[in-house]
Amino acid sequence: MLGEGIIKGMAETARNFFGSFVSKERLITVEYPEQRIPTFENARVFPFLVYDGADWEAGLRCVACQICEKECPPKCIYIEKSKEKKPDYAGKLQIYPAKFDIDVSVCMSCQICVEVCPFEAIKMNTEFELATDDRFGGLLLDRQKLARSNEYYHSIHPTEAAEVDARLAEEKAKVEAKAKAAAEAAAAKAAAAAQAKPTDTASPKTDTPKSGTPQSGGEGA
Ligand code: SF4
Ligand code: SF4
Repeated sequence: MLGEGIIKGMAETARNFFGSFVSKERLITVEYPEQRIPTFENARVFPFLVYDGADWEAGLRCVACQICEKECPPKCIYIEKSKEKKPDYAGKLQIYPAKFDIDVSVCMSCQICVEVCPFEAIKMNTEFELATDDRFGGLLLDRQKLARSNEYYHSIHPTEAAEVDARLAEEKAKVEAKAKAAAEAAAAKAAAAAQAKPTDTASPKTDTPKSGTPQSGGEGA
């Protein structure tokens, strides 16, 4: 029937309006901004950069591989690589983003940057109160404004963050086991090489001159 959807919608609105006087379940609006509905775990607004530890700059997981920059459909990520390296979460030396900006006035919240990042370094934030009268500078977020701790990530996406932590811990354990095996193999190789080498006691030096052999400096005495 033509207009059936409109009638159903109006009926639901009327049920909620009159029902809200007698039932709290029908009171489905809140007085924002004094009252707020908690955001859902799978809500997504704009991306943020995850860091581990207390120092946002040292703890950024991003290694400036620029995959997200290339894959971002509206090209609103701008990255400059560092000249030097710093250890990542697994202790491996990596370059880092000397510059990492996202223009959130262009970002379309597609989450592709999150999906392509191999380092679990960029995730979707749930913050939405970003209104500003500075159309350009105010919405171009640099790496400091984008940085959020792993604890914050856990607070907004607990299930996903726990999965990521488990995955990173597994990868770190693999890297450590590999490094340990390599160190043990190198130590075993060095020990084998030392054993194979002839010792000094096996071939004593003949410092004592044989009888009748002229010694240096003795000639002409
Ligand atoms: S969410 Fe989409 S549009 Fe926004 S920065 Fe990531 S890839 Fe680009
Ligand atoms: S956020 Fe991820 S994909 Fe983007 S540059 Fe950093 S490490 Fe690479």
